[in-house]
Amino acid sequence: MTNPILTDWNTPFQIAPFDAISDSDFAPALDSALEQHRAEIAAIAENPEPASFANTVEALEAAGEALDKVLSVFFTVAGADSNPDREALQREFSPRLAAHFSDISSNKALFRRVADLWARKDELALTPEQARVLMLTHRGLVRAGAALEGDADTRMKEIKSRLATLGTEFTQNLLADEREWYMELSEADLDGLPKFAVDAARAAGREKGVDGPIVTLSRSIIVPFLQFSPRRDLRERAYEAWAARGANGGATDNRDIAAEILALRQERAALLGYDSFADYKLETEMARTPDRVRDLLMAVWEPAKARADADAEVLSQMMHNDGINGALEPWDWRYYAERRRKAEHDLDEAALKPYLQLDRMIDAAFSCANRLFGLEFRAVNLPLYHPDCRAWEVTREGEHVALFIGDYFARGSKRSGAWCSAMRSQARFPREQAPIVINVCNFAKGEPALLSYDDARTLFHEFGHALHQMLSDVTYESISGTSVARDFVELPSQLYEHWLEVPEVLREFAVHAETGEPMPAEMLDKVLGAATFDMGFQTVEYVASALVDLAFHEGDAPADPMARQAEILQDLGIPHAIRMRHATPHFAHVFAGDGYSSGYYSYMWSEVMDADAFAAFEEAGGAFDPERAQALEEHILSAGGSQEPDVLYTAFRGRLPEVGALLKGRGLAA
Ligand SMILES: [Zn+2]
Repeated sequence: MTNPILTDWNTPFQIAPFDAISDSDFAPALDSALEQHRAEIAAIAENPEPASFANTVEALEAAGEALDKVLSVFFTVAGADSNPDREALQREFSPRLAAHFSDISSNKALFRRVADLWARKDELALTPEQARVLMLTHRGLVRAGAALEGDADTRMKEIKSRLATLGTEFTQNLLADEREWYMELSEADLDGLPKFAVDAARAAGREKGVDGPIVTLSRSIIVPFLQFSPRRDLRERAYEAWAARGANGGATDNRDIAAEILALRQERAALLGYDSFADYKLETEMARTPDRVRDLLMAVWEPAKARADADAEVLSQMMHNDGINGALEPWDWRYYAERRRKAEHDLDEAALKPYLQLDRMIDAAFSCANRLFGLEFRAVNLPLYHPDCRAWEVTREGEHVALFIGDYFARGSKRSGAWCSAMRSQARFPREQAPIVINVCNFAKGEPALLSYDDARTLFHEFGHALHQMLSDVTYESISGTSVARDFVELPSQLYEHWLEVPEVLREFAVHAETGEPMPAEMLDKVLGAATFDMGFQTVEYVASALVDLAFHEGDAPADPMARQAEILQDLGIPHAIRMRHATPHFAHVFAGDGYSSGYYSYMWSEVMDADAFAAFEEAGGAFDPERAQALEEHILSAGGSQEPDVLYTAFRGRLPEVGALLKGRGLAA
């Protein structure tokens, strides 16, 4: 019997035939795909012909097609719709994959061919894109340890394999802790909660098979509970459970895993000749050095902390007026901030929510993409991996551009957070390949599904990443779409959030779920005016996380990361009622993989750029200025990693980004 993952996908848009694939197909498909990729690599490395760009770099680009298919299908379902079988497979696959890619990057014969090309690069008559791919291939191999010999080489392989295993364990422990905990609520405990939060609590109870409403650790359920529940004791219980994810002792505790990961990363950087893991990691980023990152974060920290300290006093006073003595605690902040928001801005999240229907917000994201880039979206019916998934064909002037998939609702089988991934990336080599892009979110279900303003921003954010993939226009897949420096990749996504805040967009798409009335002008003004509300809190919890991440990867790895974390926060003087947005035991950005390690700052680095980039539209003809839109597509959204990020940015903006717009945007400017 043929494995459906490995066949030609004769499906609409050549999407994976999800309805024909069962979990038992993954392991044999992976075996076969790995074997095929190994053979392709061996043929390239042992080619008797002298190295050429075509027989080495292009051959590497073309290799691994079957493996791409297996991994794109498997990681899509393992992240968005897991089950015990898929979790077991992931535990089995991750060290094997790490070993496989480590074998390639430590293949000496292959490295010699690439190094030979690199030495002769000026004689090869390469296009700029080819020269870039050669540079990245060479640098990637060197950084992965290809130039290492003997014991150092052996040790590097062990470290990489162990790190992959630890990253998977970290994620699975976190998922287990998030799934395990819930708090049953009596009908009386629902007092003070808006309808959407009550509905979500009841739906969560039904999903858990509990008779009655519950609070879970899903962000879309616990955050509204902390915002609206007047029951301080219940808020404390829920908050402490949320904060304790990954630190509950027993089999799912992540603290020792974090310590081991940090020690191994330091060892890895030392083997490659770097002072620290942060130095190694930042070499390929737009920021380049730990000092430049720290300078940026500290420039934001002081004004943010000053704002948060002042806000804490106001909130404490409100609490004391309620007859509650003692200090404002982390489980009090959101509740009093929400009441203050109501009192001062009268922006009632619960009243706002009926105006933010998921379907209309999807339409809004599509409409902006249509006005900016001429994209059109047509819903299509395809068998996908879960009935909640929806698909749209994306076209421009009748030409196929991409397939876009949205998987928007929270469920127990989905890991938390929101993300965008390409099930297939755009490329022209070895043949034309149109992208298939998916956005996965964790919005609460409802009839109709309603979003918080944060949720709506998340939807636009992930759609910005999707545009970066869908509008990609490069030759080689390795530099396609979001394959850019980590501190550049959030620019398209964070920039796209600005279009949600364009008044005419909210006027058209924020219509009441029951009455169909557009959002009243007064509410609209408040939404837009509230953009800087509680920014002290949000900036402090984020920057604290980013500074801890950076410090963890500079100098010696801490033997006890929890103690080091406490020390850093104390030195910073973090306000008592604010904690890190992601504390170490559940800081998946940093520990689930290498992606954001000493890179969590990059969201803010990108925010410097997104504020500055959106200002370029405002300075021109407004949010939909066609020339700016065209420049954005040409120099950033279509360009992938074809050039250094500062070159791309300068081509779009005419200069490098400036930090002032960020402080102004957050309402933190002096
Ligand atoms: Zn993002």
